[in-house]
Amino acid sequence: MTQMHENIVGIDAAIFMHPTTWKASGHVDNFNDPMIDNKDSKKRYRVDHLIEAKAEEMRTEGRDDEADGLLDDMDKLLAKDDFDGLRQLIVNQGIKCAISKTSNWTEVRQFNLMFSTQMGSVSDETNEIYLRPETAQGIFVNFLNVQKTGRLKIPFGIAQIGKAFRNEIVARQFIFRMREFEQMEMQYFIRPGTQKEWYESWKETRMKWHLSLGIPKEKYRFHDHVKLAHYADAACDIEYDFPFGFKEVEGIHSRTDFDLKNHQEYSKKKMQYFDSEVNQNYIPYVIETSIGLDRTILMMLSEAYAEEDLSTAEKQDSRVVLRFPSKISPMKLAVLPLVKKDGLPEIARTIMDDCKSQFRCFYEEKDTIGKRYRRMDAIGTPFCVTVDQQTKQDNTVTIRYRDTMQQERIAADKVREIVLKEIQ
Ligand code: ATP
Repeated sequence: MTQMHENIVGIDAAIFMHPTTWKASGHVDNFNDPMIDNKDSKKRYRVDHLIEAKAEEMRTEGRDDEADGLLDDMDKLLAKDDFDGLRQLIVNQGIKCAISKTSNWTEVRQFNLMFSTQMGSVSDETNEIYLRPETAQGIFVNFLNVQKTGRLKIPFGIAQIGKAFRNEIVARQFIFRMREFEQMEMQYFIRPGTQKEWYESWKETRMKWHLSLGIPKEKYRFHDHVKLAHYADAACDIEYDFPFGFKEVEGIHSRTDFDLKNHQEYSKKKMQYFDSEVNQNYIPYVIETSIGLDRTILMMLSEAYAEEDLSTAEKQDSRVVLRFPSKISPMKLAVLPLVKKDGLPEIARTIMDDCKSQFRCFYEEKDTIGKRYRRMDAIGTPFCVTVDQQTKQDNTVTIRYRDTMQQERIAADKVREIVLKEIQ
């Protein structure tokens, strides 16, 4: 986002901000999820999660139309904040608590998702502050600082990667939903009235980025929001087909001038931009792209993970392999001396020294070569090179490719060049 777009710059904003920031952004009043408790198990659920789970169950039974109808009904009720209707829907569908197995439900109530803490050591000096539930507000309050120091002209973007915190009632599915997670967000500041085009354009750009990860088109879909967040005039999610179904990885939101206007009002500081092309002062509109780093990692892991049966007539065999595209694999190359003696480790070390400033390399001399290859498959290392007795004679090594498991002989001093070519 920042390197390939000349008009997008990065920032690292604070996690603690003035509490009024969250009043202005609407999070104190509106950052709620409707929840329901089961009276027998005392377990609390997010209403949308309960209903979505029921729809999922219907799909596994081949009742796709009913599932679609149920989700439609839910979206409509959520859009109207109709809590009685949502409770009724849960009761009518016979949805039960997974623990008590009963339908003894409380009313549906709203719960705020922000974590709060106190600032200051003496109690009467304390001030309730919040851990940021999104990184976006740090960008909004700094928008003019960045625009002025970066001499940026509209349209331009400010992006950041950072921790966000949400008091999720049910944090589950590994790193899919956590209370402390990492967001990668970008706010794109535009002229009012151009939001429709920029919204469409960012949808397309972001989908292209997703496809560039090597994930096929069918594994993604857009999901338009029916219930819009308090700040949005259009919004959609990019969903990925996780092993547990299509789920959001990224949100694209047209946030209008909602945030900047409110910060201007609450801080009494002008949030206006002077557009010399049209000779006008205005509060810019904003398109936001917001993706979870952890969810992206989970998506990459889900996509790459494979268990392969390599059995032959003679013996049973299998392997676990992470088929990451080479440019994404955390570890690019393993350098493996066949044995720990006869000068082979020393030669392997010279290959490590030649390569390690360019990409991540892993050196290992323990265990049989077959075991070492399998360990590298399991962490997704795309290339292994093995130094053996022949290396001492003709300075060649064996390179082994993770996906095909094919091996070939190459010159030891070409390893760096070959790997570099493949990982770019
Ligand atoms: P969800 O509907 O799954 O709760 P959201 O619509 O509240 O997500 P946004 O506020 O749009 O999410 O946040 C942007 C991105 O941040 C999401 O697309 C997701 O990738 C990530 N994200 C949000 N909440 C969590 C969480 N609790 N754990 C991990 N990642 C999260």
